[in-house]
Amino acid sequence: MVSIRQSKQITSLEEFRRRVPNEETALRLLEAMVWQNGRFCPRCGGAETRSIRGPRPGLYECCACRRQFRATTRTPLHGTKLPIRRWLEAIYLTLMSSKGVSSVVLARQIGIDQASAWKIAHAIRLLMRPPAEEHLTGTVEIDTVAVAGDPKKRNIRRYGPVGKHIYNPPGRGSEAPTTLVAIEKTQANVTTSTRAGRVRVAAIDSLSAAHIGPILSGMVDSGTVLHSDDDTAFRKLGASFSGHETVVHSDQEFARGDVHINTVEGFNSTIRRAYLGVWHYWSEEHGQRYMEELAFRAGQREVVRKTRKVRGKVKMRSISEPRPVLDQMRELFAHAVGREMRRTETWSVIEIDRSTPAAQVTTRRGSSLKQQKADDHIPF
Ligand SMILES: [Zn+2]
Repeated sequence: MVSIRQSKQITSLEEFRRRVPNEETALRLLEAMVWQNGRFCPRCGGAETRSIRGPRPGLYECCACRRQFRATTRTPLHGTKLPIRRWLEAIYLTLMSSKGVSSVVLARQIGIDQASAWKIAHAIRLLMRPPAEEHLTGTVEIDTVAVAGDPKKRNIRRYGPVGKHIYNPPGRGSEAPTTLVAIEKTQANVTTSTRAGRVRVAAIDSLSAAHIGPILSGMVDSGTVLHSDDDTAFRKLGASFSGHETVVHSDQEFARGDVHINTVEGFNSTIRRAYLGVWHYWSEEHGQRYMEELAFRAGQREVVRKTRKVRGKVKMRSISEPRPVLDQMRELFAHAVGREMRRTETWSVIEIDRSTPAAQVTTRRGSSLKQQKADDHIPF
């Protein structure tokens, strides 16, 4: 059985496949990650459950509501017909990639068809969504980014006339959907390993303070110090937080001590590169999930102090590297129950939010068995 404490030792897909050699091990690993504080019923939350012996391993029954469940029930893996091992391999590849894996490549690597890989990838992205009640703290850099689309106006003084091959980022005023990005600043000069700051993203319809305000409050704790550019909306919103520092890019000011928005701008660049280089396109309908994947991965890095020899002298340097993969998976599945995803008739996917399992029980108990079965059936 794979213990989730042995995480540091898995460094390659080959090693991962050796550690999780069969479906039984994969199932036990999944159970350990979904039920980190003990097994519970995904429908009523009851902790009293019993194992059902039979040909299908991993099946349990709730002693309170009498309904059967598995580790996948009411998670984005709900009703999957694919082996759990495939899922874990897909998750491994997604977590270990730098900017994501396209469904075409994922399908090739784990040996499934592209349509299934596309759905798996979206299910993984749904797992990556941070819990709504978790807010960023400390010092937080905020910025907006528009992915895809052409800029409305071209700044000739800065970027040159049209037709010259000079990078001209899509931005304010363009038709492209805009995203609000917030990142916790990672402390500089770390002594031991330090987690990278968490990242939050949200699609926004307008750049006005009235629109951004509530979205920002949903992502960032009011006790934080904000760092941003001198955007009018950010200037207005800064007053409702503990502190607010700005850098004025139009005055060629990019950093003032540790006041800067370089971390968030680095992340914005990752979004653009992933969009262009990995996925090429995403619809507005699913865009939020793609960006949540990038945000999750960015937050799964740690800065580690390592030594190296330079001309015979031992020197220390800080290196940013991904956290051990099983630690990442543990975090990924911590809030899996209550998030479901189904195929729609048009081969798209929709999310089903069942964040209130207790309320479901009364209605479901009254419904007929046939209806319950229909509810549990998912065409994958
Ligand atoms: Zn139950």
